[in-house]
Amino acid sequence: MKCSICKKNISFYHQRHSGLNFCKECFVKYIKKKVRKTLGKNIIKQNMTIGMGLSGGKDSLVMAYILNEFYKPIPNSNIIALIVDEGIEGFRKDGVNMAIKFCEEYDIAYKIATFKEYIGYDLDELVKIAKDKNLTMNPCSFCGVIRRKILNKMALNEKCNYLAIGHNLDDMAQAIMMNYIEGDVKKLAILGHDANNPMFVKRIKPLKYIPENEVLLFADLLEIKYHKAPCPYSSMSYRAEISDIIDKLEENHPGTKYSIVSGFEKLLEYLPVEKEMNVCKYCNEPSASEICKVCMFLEKLGILNV
Ligand code: SF4
Ligand code: ZN
Ligand code: ZN
Repeated sequence: MKCSICKKNISFYHQRHSGLNFCKECFVKYIKKKVRKTLGKNIIKQNMTIGMGLSGGKDSLVMAYILNEFYKPIPNSNIIALIVDEGIEGFRKDGVNMAIKFCEEYDIAYKIATFKEYIGYDLDELVKIAKDKNLTMNPCSFCGVIRRKILNKMALNEKCNYLAIGHNLDDMAQAIMMNYIEGDVKKLAILGHDANNPMFVKRIKPLKYIPENEVLLFADLLEIKYHKAPCPYSSMSYRAEISDIIDKLEENHPGTKYSIVSGFEKLLEYLPVEKEMNVCKYCNEPSASEICKVCMFLEKLGILNV
């Protein structure tokens, strides 16, 4: 089968929802173009510092690879990798090492922070404390909020204009569906609108329109070495359940993931924007409510230091 774009080369990938066939070169160009369009000229320009959350997984490294290509030639702009070590035995160290290797190979500056130095506990320790107290808490629910807070702090320290997160189309569709199903309109609004607060670095998601399978293809085509092992806690997550359902829908109805995300983006204009953010009364960091989610969680575990 010939490539639908250049009409010359043999295609290697059939995109089901569009019916297009891509050769390797056209596919790589297509992904980069799509990411460029997602970010736009207001973000890819001079005098920008972009912090990138790097886990060492395929999404964050593909994002870093593309952003590095976009920003390297732009004068007075730079990117910096922000790596968070949650402290997950037998898993995270490998990811961190892959992220560091990647940064060294592509000459990207990086900073590392750990849960331990930031809140005094590893994720594994937090999970154990919750278990000992018979609290049924999903590790992902608190891992995510703590990491988010640390990344924001790192991005502020580095004076970043934006914080780039490697969420792909699948991640977006899952997050949207989870909030729909839980009926959590506030969380839906937060997912789509960034809070307007100088203490909160605006987040960008360069891969939000690229499905996971295409991120994977891109990484393999460009021989990007990424951390493949899944997090030991990931199968326990509600997200994993939602992901299976969405994958099934996509299989039977190609384009479902796009329509979940584009429908949500249309809905966004009707969702309330948080005008001002409060400051958490314990840690003084930006928070949608009086107490931020991290402090709330630490309080529940009985380990909040105030
Ligand atoms: Fe954290 Fe869950 Fe991701 Fe593991 S899968 S790193 S626990 S958010
Ligand atoms: Zn082609
Ligand atoms: Zn707090």
